[in-house]
Amino acid sequence: MSKVCVLVTGCLWLTLAQALLLAAPAEQSRPNILFIFSDDHATGAISAYGSRLIQTPNIDRIAREGALFRNCFCTNSICGPSRAVILTGKHSHLNGFIDNRSTFNGAQLTFPKLLQQAGYQTSLIGKWHLVSQPTGFTHWDVLPGQGDYYNPVFLSAPETTGGKPSQRTVNGYVSDIITDLALEWLDGSRDRSKPFLLMLQHKAPHRAWAPGPEELDLFRGVVFPEPATLFDDYSGRGRAAAEQEMTIARHMTKLDLALVAPGNLTPTQRARYEAAFAAENEALALDAPTGDARTRWNYQRYIANYLRCVAGVDRNIGRVLDFLDRTGLAKNTIVIYSSDQGFYLGEHGWYDKRWMYEESLRMPLAMRWPGTIKPGLIADQFIQNLDFAPTLLAATSVATPPDMQGRSLLPILRGEMPADWRTSVYYHYYEFPDSHRVQSHYGVRTATHKLIWYDAIAEWELFDLVNDPHELHSIHADAAAQDTFATLRGELSRLRSSVGDTTGKPLPR
Ligand code: CA
Repeated sequence: MSKVCVLVTGCLWLTLAQALLLAAPAEQSRPNILFIFSDDHATGAISAYGSRLIQTPNIDRIAREGALFRNCFCTNSICGPSRAVILTGKHSHLNGFIDNRSTFNGAQLTFPKLLQQAGYQTSLIGKWHLVSQPTGFTHWDVLPGQGDYYNPVFLSAPETTGGKPSQRTVNGYVSDIITDLALEWLDGSRDRSKPFLLMLQHKAPHRAWAPGPEELDLFRGVVFPEPATLFDDYSGRGRAAAEQEMTIARHMTKLDLALVAPGNLTPTQRARYEAAFAAENEALALDAPTGDARTRWNYQRYIANYLRCVAGVDRNIGRVLDFLDRTGLAKNTIVIYSSDQGFYLGEHGWYDKRWMYEESLRMPLAMRWPGTIKPGLIADQFIQNLDFAPTLLAATSVATPPDMQGRSLLPILRGEMPADWRTSVYYHYYEFPDSHRVQSHYGVRTATHKLIWYDAIAEWELFDLVNDPHELHSIHADAAAQDTFATLRGELSRLRSSVGDTTGKPLPR
């Protein structure tokens, strides 16, 4: 009897499902997009990229069930500019957001706007950091500016166009709250007759690296390996590397080093936070290390807190992936994990980003798309954050405007190897002197070399990435490197023309 019922119910269910499928508008078959983004997450702190420091099982899961891009480069290694490039598919000199002093022109075309026009529900939750109010989103709920790790303020879309955003404070830890808000939106008020784009954008692991309550005790007592270049003396390069102000040894604040707690904690949160660091801080006061020993102490404290923030992001990604599985959304949702640029985890003695050197030039990118990306795909093509917009437009069958500069990754995602794919990337960083006194520069990277022109101080650097992977010795003046120098200089000039960049001081004749 029960067997018959199951059979009949099963048949009825199938028939209903088939009927629904036939009746559904074509747009329901278009994929949803979940774009999970973090701030300052270096590939060196993701186990899918072979991190020596941390396991990130949930980010790794996206890569394992989809694709991992091992040569993803940003065009301008700093927060706001990278976000503007991703939205517009255009280099900084064209989208106008060249450095963190800029304001994003929200009237220009972005991929969320195009998706919205094509019938997508578009939602932005978390860090925005582009100053102007978000445009192109059906729903937005964002941190003002950098936002706070604990008890953050959120701004959400005004009731009327042109009005002031509504503002509220949410108690708790920022990575957990952003995830809660994203799950509430997915599970709640969105229009289920339409596919969605959700940009879920974390603040972590941005400076000043305040771990959440769940990660405060993680890695306690662990001694992390030091990078080979922690004590870089900056010889062998121009003056820019020596003159920056972003060293772990000399340029970190008490807040950066968690010697004081963030200012806006509740008494309970403060007690918990201070207790987590109390024993280590007492030992520091007794021992009072100086010189290299203090640099080592700073490195250990910095990296532990950075990684705790990363672990909080990864744990929350797990919550979202579980939700997609539980609700059946996983099968028709493209899931992306990326971060706005790389970061120095002590390499060259630094924290922060900005440089065209490898650690900050590289971005993480993992992408899962059931039925399109073969699980476990490893892609080594040179791709850039410029390509994200054209890719997502192509994935949703929305035409890419001809003035977008990136290129769709769709062929690569399908396992094809386009013969004419780019073999060099162009880079341009602008922000000087604040923050950190990193000279403006532009350059080109190929599979084997990198040429950088510090335009304001008229200095070259040329690195042989095969024989000098840590980029410690510029060979631009070596007699044996002159053919290479000329070739790369020509390629840099060609790239400047092809992307239409006339900003910065020109290349020397
Ligand atoms: Ca950033």
